[in-house]
This record gives sequence, structure tokens and C-alpha cells, in this order.
Amino acid sequence: MTAEILKNYIGGEWVAAESTEYHEVKNPATGELIGKTPLCGAAEVDTAVRSAKHAFGSWRRTPVEDRVQFLFQLKFQLEKHAEELAAIVTRENGKTLSESRGSVRRGIQMIEVAAGAPSLLMGQALEDIAGGIDCESVRQPLGVFACIAPFNFPAMVPMWFFPFAVACGNTFLCKPSEQVPFSQKLVWELTHEAGFPPGVLNMVQGGKDAVNAILHHPDIAGISFVGSSPVAEYVYKTGAANRKRVQALGGAKNYIIIMPDAEMDKALDAVTESAFGCAGERCLAASIVIPVGNCHEQVRQGLVERMKKIRVGDGSKPGVDMGPVISAPHKEKVLGYIAAGEKEGAELVVDGRDVDADQGGSFIGPTLFDNVKPDMKIGYDEIFGPVLCLSPVETLDDALAMAKNHPLANASSIFTTSGRSARNFRYNVDSSMAGVNIGVAAPMSFFGFGGAKGSFFGDLKAHGREAFDFYTDRKVVISRW
Ligand code: NAD
Repeated sequence: MTAEILKNYIGGEWVAAESTEYHEVKNPATGELIGKTPLCGAAEVDTAVRSAKHAFGSWRRTPVEDRVQFLFQLKFQLEKHAEELAAIVTRENGKTLSESRGSVRRGIQMIEVAAGAPSLLMGQALEDIAGGIDCESVRQPLGVFACIAPFNFPAMVPMWFFPFAVACGNTFLCKPSEQVPFSQKLVWELTHEAGFPPGVLNMVQGGKDAVNAILHHPDIAGISFVGSSPVAEYVYKTGAANRKRVQALGGAKNYIIIMPDAEMDKALDAVTESAFGCAGERCLAASIVIPVGNCHEQVRQGLVERMKKIRVGDGSKPGVDMGPVISAPHKEKVLGYIAAGEKEGAELVVDGRDVDADQGGSFIGPTLFDNVKPDMKIGYDEIFGPVLCLSPVETLDDALAMAKNHPLANASSIFTTSGRSARNFRYNVDSSMAGVNIGVAAPMSFFGFGGAKGSFFGDLKAHGREAFDFYTDRKVVISRW
């Protein structure tokens, strides 16, 4: 069977890419070649932006109540095809079907919130700011926005952005991750079914050349990026230098603090799910667990027991708890971290290299290191795989200080039954997604999503009310009649 070559979606039509260079898309559970992503460049980005720019004029004049009807239609289409979409996510990304279903649901919830645009887009007004003078502030769309997406949530992440952008009256260009283009292919087919006017939503396939073309295109007003921190910082700086609005969500090293007074069974269940769900390829995954005081041994034993029960395999098969990592090169990278951890003197408690899973896939079993120091490679770098580190400390202040020292402050959690400890944690922790007795502190579609320090570049976070700020200019009109 020949592998499908992905197309671009421009001006309401699927068009063959000009590029003859490709990224090979493989099912990470089997190694089977399932498609080829053309690595498009400046010319194709330009064609898509022109189409989006052309559509902007009439789309912004379309009443918001009419614009959101297309989002209602899209939600209907997504509900109808949710199972199909989840299966595609699993096939190209490797996560289990239930994880894929959850991510599709989270995507649909974005559309539900964005469809509230008639209320959420409203401005403010005040009469008589001076004698006979009235003032109002209205939100206006800015033009063409683009999103650049990562591999780990192929269906959901672009949905963090485009429903809000187009509800606000902008038009849009999506560049999915070249590693997982099939989920957005289906989403865009469904936007077509939903009847969005041609040019409102566009898609160009590619990798860094397409990103650079987006960053330098003069007719792109703003960019929503999600990916690793070095690329997020580059996108932020380059986009800003080219006078674009940028929100760039980067990588993570998430600390989970477990106090001795925690409800231990619940805490350890949540931490296990957080660290090994989606094979650790989540920006909210637990990276470092810090047992405080005398609970170290209990935490370690409890994690080992739970990790032994995790069944690793093809995520499309029933009974599998954890799928492969995204690709063979990524597997090699994660194995390199395990080797580095051993070399630097951390104690390897559970070795995921012994995994017994189907051949051909990029499988790594759940892995646990103990006595990890913050300056070890495994203690510092974002591993983005099923490798969890334990770093015991004496006090909550020690734990908070350890978390504070790390530049990636995406998410962090505490497990405790003490209101005082919880308050100390939430008040002092730097990460801007903070969990109290929650393993994956993921804000839902009606709240903002994004980290702090080196995990986020920009001002306005993704989705929630902040999306309406990011995708509009607030024009102030002062009138005297
Ligand atoms: P990545 O940075 O490698 O790629 C992200 C996007 O940038 C892709 O579309 C890719 O084509 C493009 N890209 C890659 N290298 C580039 C370069 N040198 N120049 C220009 N563009 C480039 O990220 P990934 O491996 O796809 O995704 C995993 C990363 O995403 C992890 O670091 C994870 O923490 C992060 N992530 C963060 C969040 C969040 O909310 N903060 C959510 C999901 C994933």
C-alpha cells in the first residue's frame, strides 16, 4: 500500500503541495508507514495567507451570531466523528484510545466556549466620562492568525486556538505537527462539512520552513504556538520582531509535592496516572515527585506497586494502559536519559527498558529513578517520556525551593490534607497551573491555559476569556454629539 501524501487546505479546497520533501508519518505502535507530510515553505504559506486575508473582509462583517453557527455545526460534526477522530489520534500518536477520546472531548469543549462569543466578545461603555462625552470600548478582530502545533495532542491543541480566533472574526492558518497530520486533516474535513466560508480556515503542512514563513509573513497578525521551550522562545522573539502578537506555550518540568499527611492511596493513583498517562508525553505530566519528610519509602513502594500493573502495548488494543512514545528517534532520546540517570548516580528503581511489548513499536516501560538531584540531566531536562524521578526532601519549604529553582514552571501539584500546606504551596509556587490533590492540573476550556517563566512566552494564555483578549484589539471610541 502506498503511503498517503497529505494535502494543504487553502480557500476551501484540498490542494496538492508543491514540496517534494516529506516527513514520514509512522504508527508508533507498529512502525508502519501511514503517510507522508510534505514539508511546505514560504510559497505555500503565502498562498494560504492570501486566501485568509481575502476572506477576512467579509468574515469580520458577518454578524457574530451567524459566525458561531458554523461552530455549532462543527461541534455536531465532531460529535458524529469523535470515535473516528480518536482512532486516528491513537494511530498516529500512539496514546491509548481512552486517552485519545479524552483529548477529543477537550477539543470539543473549546468549541462550546468559543460559541459563547456573542457574550464574550462584548465590550464596555460609560456615558458622561466628561460633560456630554461618552466612551465605549469594542473588540475588533485583527486579521489572519496562525497556529503552530506539537505532536502530543494532534486533535486537541489546534482546537485551543482556531475556534476562538474565528469566533472573534479573524481568519486562520493552521500548521499541524508534521509528525501527526492526520487528526487535523479530519478536523479540517469536518470544518468543510460545517460550511465555513472558503478562506476562513486554511492549513499548510510542514516543519520548520513553514514556521519560518509564518513568522516572517507580513500579513499574519498573530501566532499561537505550542511546543518545546527553545522553539517557543524562538517563535516568540522572531514573531515579536516581525510585529506580531505571539502566545508561545513551551515545555515543562512538573513538580509534585507529597506531604506525609496526604491521602496516600489517592495521591499515588493520581501521580501514577499523571506520570505515565500518554506515555509521559504531556506538558502536564508529573516529572519530579518530591516526598516530604517521612513518607519517602511509602511513596516509593506505592509507585513501584502501581507501575508494575501498567500494561504497555498498542494503544488501539483493549486492556492496554500505556502506548509507545511518538517515534524511534524519540525512544532513543528517552533511553539516553535513562542511561544518563544511571551514570550520574541516581538509583534506577524500575527499569522501563525491560518492557515486554509488541515488536516494531517505540515502547518504553514505566521507569522510576530515586534520589535524583536537580543538577542531574534527568533532574533538569524535560524528558517527555515515561520516566519519573523521586527527589526526597525534609520540609515543604525545601520542596518549594527546589521547584522555584527550575526555569520551566508549567504545572505543579501538592498532595496534602493540610489547608495550611496547600495555601503555602498555591501562594508561593511559580507555575501558573497549580493542583491541590490533583495530578494533572489542566484548566478546562473556560479558563486560561499556559505556564510561567521558561514554559510560556507572551502575556495572554490559551483559551478561556484570555483568548478573546488575544484575538482582538480593544478599540476605545470617545464621542461627543
Ligand atoms: P517542537 O518544539 O519540536 O515542535 C513544535 C512545532 O514547532 C512543530 O509544529 C514543529 O514543526 C515546529 N518546529 C520544530 N522545530 C522547529 C524549529 N527549529 N524552528 C521552527 N519550528 C520548529 O515540539 P514537539 O516535540 O512537537 O512537542 C513536544 C513539546 O511540546 C514538549 O516540550 C511539550 O512540553 C510541549 N507542549 C507544551 C504544551 C503547553 O501547553 N505548554 C502543550 C503540549 C506540548
